[in-house]
Amino acid sequence: MIDNFRHQGSRRILAAAIKEKGIENEDVLEAIATVPRHFFIGAGFDDFAYNDVPFSIGCDQTISQPSTVARQTELLDVKKGNKVLEIGTGSGYQAAILDHLGARVYTVERQSDLYFKTKALLKENYPRIKCFLGDGYKGLAAYAPFDRIIITAAAPFIPQDLVAQLKIGGKMVVPLDVEDDASQQEMILIEKLSEDNVVQTKHGMFMFVPMLKKVK
Ligand code: SAH
Repeated sequence: MIDNFRHQGSRRILAAAIKEKGIENEDVLEAIATVPRHFFIGAGFDDFAYNDVPFSIGCDQTISQPSTVARQTELLDVKKGNKVLEIGTGSGYQAAILDHLGARVYTVERQSDLYFKTKALLKENYPRIKCFLGDGYKGLAAYAPFDRIIITAAAPFIPQDLVAQLKIGGKMVVPLDVEDDASQQEMILIEKLSEDNVVQTKHGMFMFVPMLKKVK
């Protein structure tokens, strides 16, 4: 895949626009300015890759809006070497951003066609990322515990299996359906201070595709 000067220039402009929207973490902005988002969008749609909008990736799914990816990543507060579980691989873009930040990424997708397509793309461009086909509600007990967990689909509730797979001192970011209105999600940061002291804070409204049970 080609990453030319035009792509690189558009990415720097995108990162600057996201900074204007209030993202302060310089590492996150640098990741946005570096990871070629057009790789994760179907060929021929390069022109859409660097606008701050969500985009269809087929299978009724979307690659999240870059500013939403940036905000979720900033809240996640990833440190180099962190073991990170992502629920909702989708296009693989969020996983690539986490990899770029030095995380050891484990990502779970429920749809087999997306899983196979994205796994091949990541193997070629981000070979450290580990892809799994499964039900994100269950997480990856065999690889737990994780330093960080990020859900990138709208969760109807906070999956307790995932909280259980978080290390003490770990953080988890979840777009949680607003009561009575599943078209909107409130971003929730969960901090596991001890086994029985799990703190939740709210960080603004967003829109995600729904988190569903595993298919096929
Ligand atoms: N992180 C993705 C965003 C994809 S949209 C990206 O950067 O492109 C959300 C994704 O979550 C979709 O691919 C959808 O199939 C997946 N998903 C929905 N419910 C899921 C579940 N229960 N387990 C795992 N993945 C799920």
